[in-house]
Amino acid sequence: TTPAPVRHADSSKLYMADLESALHYSLRGETERFSVLEGERLAALKHYVTVLAKYFPGRPYVKNFLGSLDTWLKNQKQSNISCSALEEALKNKKNAPKPAVLTHSMTWVGCQGSKPHFRGYPCSLWTLFHLLTVQASKYKARTAEPLEVLGAMRGYVCYFFGCQTCSKHFEAMAAESMNQVKSLDEAILWLWSRHNRANARLAGDLTEDPKFPKMQWPPPDMCPSCHNEVSGQHVWNEPTVLHFLKIHYSPANIYFDYTE
Ligand code: FAD
Repeated sequence: TTPAPVRHADSSKLYMADLESALHYSLRGETERFSVLEGERLAALKHYVTVLAKYFPGRPYVKNFLGSLDTWLKNQKQSNISCSALEEALKNKKNAPKPAVLTHSMTWVGCQGSKPHFRGYPCSLWTLFHLLTVQASKYKARTAEPLEVLGAMRGYVCYFFGCQTCSKHFEAMAAESMNQVKSLDEAILWLWSRHNRANARLAGDLTEDPKFPKMQWPPPDMCPSCHNEVSGQHVWNEPTVLHFLKIHYSPANIYFDYTE
């Protein structure tokens, strides 16, 4: 296979191409491994799609698509759904003759690795869920439960994420402390700090892209005031981190380079 062209990306920005590629792969690639979806796995998919329909800051036709997929899933009252029925629903024929709403390809921009096996989908999944925790905190009705997005992530990662080691590690962190999250802002910070734990654990690992070394994030050059020192020890300035995350993971910071 020919390597993908190098796409210019700025690490201080988010790219819709990464996010839409995450939607495509998380809804199609990861689900089609199961011939039938039922029980907790089906419930996890429904919860994930509900959260996407509510909070994904997509282009209008993508939002419409997520809304109709959510309604379709909610209307499936039987105990299981076949993979082929889901595949049909994902085609969203109602949109015809307009073009397919959900991209059929994966285009990595901010998540492009220096080699095809680095970064990509897992990077886009983190990005998507950080964005969703931030979007939920701004939701006008403020009816969002603190665990609504995190719970959707936990279920999705547990039942669909193809990387088994990843889902085990994530589930262990979730089981340990996710239920202590009491507000939407705490949910944002919980995901940030657990992602940093993953970064610390994976620094120097074979899976690390040498061009994108794992670090405690955001680094000082991105957010100097996020960092403090107390008695010679590094400490995070959490209110500033929260503020930074809300700006970084906001629709205004999503760029449309390389989207179709
Ligand atoms: P990623 O860690 O994927 O981060 C993507 C982007 O998010 C970064 O470029 C940066 O802009 C931003 N970011 C980085 N840190 C933070 C933070 N703390 N808060 C907010 N934003 C941040 N791989 C394994 O080998 N073993 C595992 O156990 C494992 N567990 C995983 C669990 C989950 C739930 C997920 C989604 C992925 C997991 N992975 C695991 C994959 C791994 O975490 C990385 O996604 C992958 O190695 C690609 O790394 P990356 O350099 O693109 O950056």
